Amino acid sequence: MPAFSLDPAQTTWCAELRTLAADHLKPLADKGEPGRVNRPLVAALGELGLLARLFDAGALELCLLRESLARTCTEAETALALQGLGTHPVAAFGTPAQRARWLPEAAAGRAVAAFALSEPGAGSDAAALALEARPDGAGGWRLHGEKRWISNAPEADFATVFARTTPDAGARGVTAFLVPAGRPGLGGEALDMLAPHALGTLTFDGVPVGPDDLLGEPDRGFRVAMNTLNLFRPSVGAFAVGMAQAALDATLAHTADRPAFGGHLADLQSVAHRIAEMATRTEAARLLVYAAAAAYDDGDPDVPRRSAMAKLLATETAQYVVDSAVQLHGARALQRGHLLEHLYREVRAPRIYEGATEVQRTIIAKELYATHRRSHPRQEEPTP
Ligand SMILES: Cc1cc2nc3c(=O)[nH]c(=O)nc-3n(C[C@H](O)[C@H](O)[C@H](O)COP(=O)(O)OP(=O)(O)OC[C@H]3O[C@@H](n4cnc5c(N)ncnc54)[C@H](O)[C@@H]3O)c2cc1C
Repeated sequence: MPAFSLDPAQTTWCAELRTLAADHLKPLADKGEPGRVNRPLVAALGELGLLARLFDAGALELCLLRESLARTCTEAETALALQGLGTHPVAAFGTPAQRARWLPEAAAGRAVAAFALSEPGAGSDAAALALEARPDGAGGWRLHGEKRWISNAPEADFATVFARTTPDAGARGVTAFLVPAGRPGLGGEALDMLAPHALGTLTFDGVPVGPDDLLGEPDRGFRVAMNTLNLFRPSVGAFAVGMAQAALDATLAHTADRPAFGGHLADLQSVAHRIAEMATRTEAARLLVYAAAAAYDDGDPDVPRRSAMAKLLATETAQYVVDSAVQLHGARALQRGHLLEHLYREVRAPRIYEGATEVQRTIIAKELYATHRRSHPRQEEPTP
């Protein structure tokens, strides 16, 4: 594989994004209420044209966008990513009428999106989802059940909802629906989580949906979910890399200037070596993320393995780097409102959502063995 580097236009764009985030987005993020959708922030992302880019961006562009925003303002990064996650199924699978109704509103930041796959009984094993779509006898369905841990719920203006149309059929019996807020029987409540963004439940008590609400074909909804997650998985790694870089930058500055034992923290070899380790791991994670995203954009058949590796390494690295940064800052890092106190809360969830670390390892191993088997078909043991 050739050495990977960004071209000058991409590097300049990333620097511009960081400035934009610092000047326009961070002040709005700071005024937001934890656990609530920050509508002025989403609207600003729309006005700056960043949400519109989500719908025609390739995977690498999406990664650069997420990494750059995360370095300066994680709230803006997350608001943008969630808008992408909830809207991508409409952009990729929606009818012309659905696209005309929702894409301009989502791109402008006037309509807030959600992606509702997880349930109390179906997280990592998403194909076990049980939200029931019962035929209503008139060509439509009624939705019954609950979605849980859904970002932007219950405040979102519309949600991509995955429901079971065929019982006992696993992934093959799932259908994706576009459900606007305000449908009769649709409820939900906010959940108080460690992650700072809005998260909640959606409850469905006979919510009516019809053929016009379908995203793709009946029973083919799992494809909609996987298509969306395949695009977004490397970019979760980019979010993590952005947080790791922000923690590293802060720690370099702090340890260089913090007086200690007649010198500065940076003069202590154990501190300097920890910084070196943080920087090396962050760079390795970044390169793996870019490589996975570039492979996605090239249509490489190796995308599942590369994306899983990128998401796994980047999210675990960010946890190590942010934790190290807290350690090297001492008590001040744990004070409410400190950048690292914020990152410490932000960095934990990406190791769980969009495929937990252990699930990524399973994907990687499965892909490796499948490749091995293609070139080394198993020889039957001769029977004695
Ligand atoms: C901040 C946050 C935001 C979220 N946003 C959304 C959203 O917008 N939309 C949405 O649909 N969902 C969302 N989720 C839910 C998320 O997708 C699930 O939490 C995730 O899929 C894991 O499911 P679970 O929590 O039920 O854990 P479980 O599936 O019960 O897994 C628990 C743990 O078991 C282990 N494990 C599970 N499966 C395996 C395996 N195959 N091999 C080895 N170990 C395994 C892992 O350690 C895993 O962390 C969000 C979650 C969080 C924390």
